[in-house]
Amino acid sequence: MRIIILGPPGSGKGTRAKIIGKLYGIPVITTGDLLRESVNQGTDQGRTVKTYIERGELVPDEIVIGIVENKLKKENLRKGFILDGFPRNITQAEALDKILRNNGVELDFVLYVKAEPETIVKRLSLRRSCPKCGAIYHLKDKPPKNDEMCDECGSRLLQRSDDREEVILHRLEIYEESTRPILELYLNQGKVREISGEMEMNKIPDAVRMVLEG
Ligand code: AMP
Repeated sequence: MRIIILGPPGSGKGTRAKIIGKLYGIPVITTGDLLRESVNQGTDQGRTVKTYIERGELVPDEIVIGIVENKLKKENLRKGFILDGFPRNITQAEALDKILRNNGVELDFVLYVKAEPETIVKRLSLRRSCPKCGAIYHLKDKPPKNDEMCDECGSRLLQRSDDREEVILHRLEIYEESTRPILELYLNQGKVREISGEMEMNKIPDAVRMVLEG
């Protein structure tokens, strides 16, 4: 199964992508994580990427497309994947289309995660993530067992610098401007399925099966 998961920042895309990856045994490719890895490597490219992420802006297309293309080359595209955070604008959607066509495969679904702006701001400002293993927590709805430490690997949890309220609002504006138009593109192709970003965690697998398998 080849899936794109799409929705505003903080809609719950990452959580759903991980669940779907496990459910169907397919790799989850998360551009935000790949870009943060490049920042941590401290290369020139990583330093450039950092300035965009911190301002809540989209990282330039040529950088992101290059990173995704390299990652997809290492995967068996016939077996499937779930893309979380890519594409985020029309140029990226066209680049993805070309990569898939060159490999003789097609997208199966675009899963749109719907969430209200108030939910998003509340969720992101209380989000904490593990810099080591990528686990995600919410201080109110999914708190770690030990004060701000990761349940999985024991590392100290961090608030992402772009999860501050003023940056969140800017990320939402960019979503509306650049990312929402690609939803229209995929709606015209009949590939879009919708899932709520506001349901309890344990209900997500059944909801996913229902929208993707009917
Ligand atoms: P995310 O973790 O998906 O919310 O992404 C965090 C940040 O990484 C975004 O606000 C952008 O600065 C950058 N980013 C992630 N994916 C992309 C993409 N496909 N294109 C450009 N920038 C991206």
